[in-house]
Amino acid sequence: MADTATKNSSCTFCKIYESRTGVILETKFFFAQFDRFPASPGHSEVIPKRHIESVLSLEDEEWSDLYGAIRSAISVIEKTDFRALYSGFADSPLSRRSEEFCRLMLKHVGLGKRPDGYNYGINDGRAAGRTIDHLHLHIIPRYFGDVQDPTGGVRHMLPGMGNYKKE
Ligand SMILES: [Zn+2]
Repeated sequence: MADTATKNSSCTFCKIYESRTGVILETKFFFAQFDRFPASPGHSEVIPKRHIESVLSLEDEEWSDLYGAIRSAISVIEKTDFRALYSGFADSPLSRRSEEFCRLMLKHVGLGKRPDGYNYGINDGRAAGRTIDHLHLHIIPRYFGDVQDPTGGVRHMLPGMGNYKKE
């Protein structure tokens, strides 16, 4: 059951929640953080407090709480000063690669803007690209001009299958 929280002591997300380091919000069943390898300014994850792998393990009450957690995360994203955020991350990076990602954000077309749109994504399973086996929903803000042609959005995860309108 959802409130008998299961934890895994070797799991990155369980450890983050345990320490509350970088936690930007908390609801009854979820918390959120900014990604330290951001794909765009504001890239965040909404993560269940319970250590579960798949959306298929979410209880009904968690599903309903997830909606509020996403809305709250967006509200935080839209109020965040990304220049300060990524300067801070780049100055105390998790790794050299993390620093590179955060420095890229400081030159991003979306820096200093409010997002123009969002992609939401769950890599549900290793075959779907999941690297941390604790369910997390990516919120990836999008900005006009961040890619040449955004048509197809999340379909681009399968190379060549994104823009179904292009002949
Ligand atoms: Zn975990």
